[in-house]
Amino acid sequence: MKISSIPAGFDTGMNNLMWVINSINDHSVTIIDPGYTKPVLEYLEANALTVKNILITHHHFDHTDGVEALLEIDSSIPVYGPENSPFKLITHPLTEDDTIFLENINATFKVIEVPGHTMDHISFYCEEHNICFVGDTVFGAGAGALFEGTADIFWSSIQKIINLPPQTSLYYGHDYTLENLTFACTIEKQNNAIKQRIQHCKKIRQNKDFNGYSTVELECQTNPFWRCHIEEVKMSCEQYAGKALNSTLEVFTVIRGWR
Ligand SMILES: [Zn+2]
Repeated sequence: MKISSIPAGFDTGMNNLMWVINSINDHSVTIIDPGYTKPVLEYLEANALTVKNILITHHHFDHTDGVEALLEIDSSIPVYGPENSPFKLITHPLTEDDTIFLENINATFKVIEVPGHTMDHISFYCEEHNICFVGDTVFGAGAGALFEGTADIFWSSIQKIINLPPQTSLYYGHDYTLENLTFACTIEKQNNAIKQRIQHCKKIRQNKDFNGYSTVELECQTNPFWRCHIEEVKMSCEQYAGKALNSTLEVFTVIRGWR
């Protein structure tokens, strides 16, 4: 399965990554979260590709703004997205455990509801190919901002991603990986996996590429939001908060407020 990213907003610090899955049979693609019109249209034209279907993880403009232009080219393109979304151009509304089969890429995705960043947020998980598009729920060594949900709602959502098989590749909506790892280092000074990942990410950025995906296993080792049960993480958060923290949810809440 060939998956590529279209970067956008790196000049404004938004650091968005839109994802494209190529068909194995023709020049069609599935596109995930086309938030920027111009880079998407330029990418499609440069590579002589047509969009067969669109997947939307949540309603934010930087994940949806390009949909209208794609529908102007072909109004029959199905737009899959969360049923409870305020985004109006979704043609195929989805809820927890729904599955969709995308013929052009020969893949079935299962919907995982992950409210928190927004209340309409979903992830698209393909078990066969070990991939999951997580939007703004998980970032490299980080997590999305808590715009609409509460910390406990978001915490439950993140558990669903943590519980996917360790080899699952996670594709996120923004590349803040290096900044997140620097923060992770201040919480866990002794974690060598974080230090190694920083070196790896720096190399990728030096080559003008992006840190847009990782695996469940790597996040388990390096993502502070996923490591609330680790003693050093808890102690750093207690020091920052100036009080004892009695649950992983309390630790998570402190990290979210801190970063
Ligand atoms: Zn968002």
